[in-house]
Amino acid sequence: MGLKQKDPQVYNLIQKERKRLAEVLELIPSENYSSSEVLEALGSVLNVKYAEGYPGKRYYEGNAVVDEVENLAIERTREAFELPIDWHVNVQPYSGSPMNLEVYFALLEPGDTVLAMDLAHGGHLTHGSKVNFTGRTYNFIHYGVKELTGRLDYMEILKLADRVKPKMIVCGATAYPREIEFKKFKEIAEKVNAITLADISHIAGLIVGGVHPSPIPFFDVVTSTTHKTLRGPRAGIILCKDKFATAINKAVFPGMQGGPHLNAIAAIAVTMKEAKTKAFAKYAEQIVKNCKALAEALIGFGFKLVSGGTDNHLILMDLTNKNMSGGEAAKLLDKAGIVLNKNMIPFDRRTPMDPSGLRLGTAAVTSRGMKQKEMGKIASWIAAVIADPSIASKVKEEVRRFCKKFPAPGL
Ligand SMILES: *Cc1c(COP(=O)(O)O)cnc(C)c1O
Repeated sequence: MGLKQKDPQVYNLIQKERKRLAEVLELIPSENYSSSEVLEALGSVLNVKYAEGYPGKRYYEGNAVVDEVENLAIERTREAFELPIDWHVNVQPYSGSPMNLEVYFALLEPGDTVLAMDLAHGGHLTHGSKVNFTGRTYNFIHYGVKELTGRLDYMEILKLADRVKPKMIVCGATAYPREIEFKKFKEIAEKVNAITLADISHIAGLIVGGVHPSPIPFFDVVTSTTHKTLRGPRAGIILCKDKFATAINKAVFPGMQGGPHLNAIAAIAVTMKEAKTKAFAKYAEQIVKNCKALAEALIGFGFKLVSGGTDNHLILMDLTNKNMSGGEAAKLLDKAGIVLNKNMIPFDRRTPMDPSGLRLGTAAVTSRGMKQKEMGKIASWIAAVIADPSIASKVKEEVRRFCKKFPAPGL
């Protein structure tokens, strides 16, 4: 018996969400449509197995097959990221937040000083936010962007590093629309003898697809989620130099986790095979082309963008010159079938619950095959709805019809 007969309540909720996803413009930069193959692996019998430990060194019996699954995911991750032979891969982190905690647990002591990007300037909660475990446990000091340019100021970061002498420097962001210069971070870290961690959760797909530089030639440790631009399952991966491998493995299991989720690990293997294809490289290229086109169109409609544009998959809009907050605009656009999120902008004078910014990105709409021309259309809807909220439901219907022409993967 299927879910439809046995549990129509859950079945119907899934169908409703499938319909919503098909009919809206999904612009939240951390979301994407996975292929049906990724979803098939996630929903497979690999969900059953307990496999505490690592391939060849497990605590329970019956691991012959899942050892092959995990080794394949590791091998394909190595290939996708073109890892040097003296690098190690761990594919067990349940998601992005645990993966970062695991790196800190492996390489730091409580109270150690860490330099990372401020949440209010685009960092992540696990980069030492006061409300997060990481901020309570380690001495995080934060760098940000320059108010005038909206960009990282590497001279300032160097000065700060020189003053606080961090044991680790973290880079990576959730709302930074510009290229991160990993080489400059490495030069700063070398001067103060700090470990380098690049959290590439948002841009991993762009890196694998060859349209954003990789931190791997310069960094000690790289973490990434697999569900954002990489388009895979909700999971995390840790890549590190071999000298950190033992500490990282121990921190993941038994340090912070129990049995790995082999269904998610199989889905990582599928994702990494997809990510190695020419089609994916084209996809990554198109994400950035679309994002630049969307940015230009929004500027054309009089919107201010933090840093004045984008190099990657996301845009941070600054609504301070409109008479609407980010919270109001996000709610209103949702009513028009345009789904994005409110976001703090650097030096925001409003609160995180109702900030001045909107964050939007092109990873998901590019997965539907939309191109630059469609980005112009999306920008014109955003501008029209913000100028006249009364047209939201009319736009929602137009968006629904428009989306029909671009079927999303995995639905
Ligand atoms: C999304 C993200 C995470 C956390 O991932 P979750 O799976 O939501 O826990 C960590 N770091 C960065 C930079 C992210 O963008």
